[in-house]
Amino acid sequence: MKGNMLNWDVTVPKLIDHAEKYSFDAEIVSRELDNSISKITVGDCLSRSRRVATMLLNFGVHQGDRVGTIAWNNSRHFEVYFGVTGMGAVLHTINPRLFPEQLIYILNHAEDKVVFVDETFLPLIAAVQEHLQNSPHIILMGPKKNTELGINNLHFYDELLASTQPIENWTDVDELDAAALCYTSGTTGNPKGVLYSHRSTMLHSWAAGNALRFDTNSSVLPVVPMFHVNAWGTPYTTLMNGHKLILPGQALDGASLYELISNENASVLMGVPTVWLGLLNYLKENNLTLQGIEKVMVGGSAAPLAMIKEFNQKHNTFLVHGWGMTEMSPLGTLNLPSKKMMQLPDEERYALQTKQGYPLFGVELKIVDDDNNQLPRDGKAQGALKVRGPWIIESYFKAESPAVDDEGWFDTGDVATIFPDGCMQIMDRAKDVIKSGGEWISSIDLENAAVGHPDIEEACVVGVPHPKWDERPILLVICKGDLDKTSINEYLSEKVAKWWLPDDIIKVDNLPHGATGKLLKVELREKYKHHLMEN
Ligand code: AMP
Repeated sequence: MKGNMLNWDVTVPKLIDHAEKYSFDAEIVSRELDNSISKITVGDCLSRSRRVATMLLNFGVHQGDRVGTIAWNNSRHFEVYFGVTGMGAVLHTINPRLFPEQLIYILNHAEDKVVFVDETFLPLIAAVQEHLQNSPHIILMGPKKNTELGINNLHFYDELLASTQPIENWTDVDELDAAALCYTSGTTGNPKGVLYSHRSTMLHSWAAGNALRFDTNSSVLPVVPMFHVNAWGTPYTTLMNGHKLILPGQALDGASLYELISNENASVLMGVPTVWLGLLNYLKENNLTLQGIEKVMVGGSAAPLAMIKEFNQKHNTFLVHGWGMTEMSPLGTLNLPSKKMMQLPDEERYALQTKQGYPLFGVELKIVDDDNNQLPRDGKAQGALKVRGPWIIESYFKAESPAVDDEGWFDTGDVATIFPDGCMQIMDRAKDVIKSGGEWISSIDLENAAVGHPDIEEACVVGVPHPKWDERPILLVICKGDLDKTSINEYLSEKVAKWWLPDDIIKVDNLPHGATGKLLKVELREKYKHHLMEN
């Protein structure tokens, strides 16, 4: 027997409609490209989105067409998010840190009809435009400018917006229609498109908003870019709940972030560990402390123990560790401050906080061995982490075969352990785990231990071929002052098993990062592949 309740599609246009009625006076604060701070209400911002929708119709964009953005976290970008999706087109956020060949590939693969671009990124368009098969309209997100870049089909956002009427009604879309598209760049092959539906986007926002337990008065500052998995869904989540949204623009250094956090009373911060490292260093150097922060949400890479401690001890702030990926919209697990956790002695709690936490309802998790047999939740077995759920991928955009197995499980490419209470810990990327004499060493754990050393600013551990043990770890560090291997080794031997200690420690000036800020270990493995064979 079926239930009798209304089959009401959950869609972004309905969310906009709701926010226009009930969250219209929520504030959106935004750092503009000239470093000025602008403030606008959700109501005014969404009425500008209505003009964006008409603008797109005038450019011949139809429901289901893709519309690109290459922009920072700012209020125009927010307007475009909802103008595009509200009129039924697909919002394709593009990561400006991709290589030009990757940009060309994804712009052609997505077949964007229009691309909205912040002025910072116009040179990127100039460099690739002649290779774009679709000749998209390029809309510079700002006032009219004289540019010498020779870009074709160039239009100016502010001018167009002023001369366009708002659309009367948002489009009535099916909840299974596509809403947004993000490409994920692996280390090999072309980037792959993850095409979110209205339903997956809305279910994810409901779940994330609920799980993160923002206070009614929370003001949320996503440093995670709106071009990377929709800033972890934050524009949707805050709109759903009427929270103040603080958008940091292009200024992601410690000083600029601190200014915004304190002037705008931010209470929830969201970003990758590298950003918080910059902020914490700035605060330390200037003898400052954060006030009134409810939580700092960290994901994208593992949050080091030292960071968890510093936020708590110096800034009285709880770091919520989250894990997910583009293919998961992105939120999979969160490690929230449960009553049980908060009753633990500090050091035990900090150690627990380094784990990636518990799945939200809507995310199923399991770990499996090489033969796809499910492994126990005993806190010891390590295996390939697989997931499934209503905001998790089924197949990549335009792919011929599914990305999941017959039962819908998606292999995340991560290696994890699950504890008896269900807490999940990422041990490594499957390709980064170090196999030493048949035993596994987690490069993430070693890095996390290393960054706690006072001289180390950033650490990267890679496995390289070894004549006796197949593979052994070497530690590459960016450090303050001279390298003191003995001191680092002594420090590490208190934190990890003796056989985990790196076979060598090398000081480097910089470490290579990919488009989403993750360490590019493939390059380093290649560079150092003979290092231990020669020694
Ligand atoms: P992306 O799709 O670019 O967001 O990258 C997703 C990948 O980032 C995951 O598969 C993990 O390998 C890694 N990742 C994300 N969050 C965490 C975390 N909290 N700890 C460790 N790795 C993480």
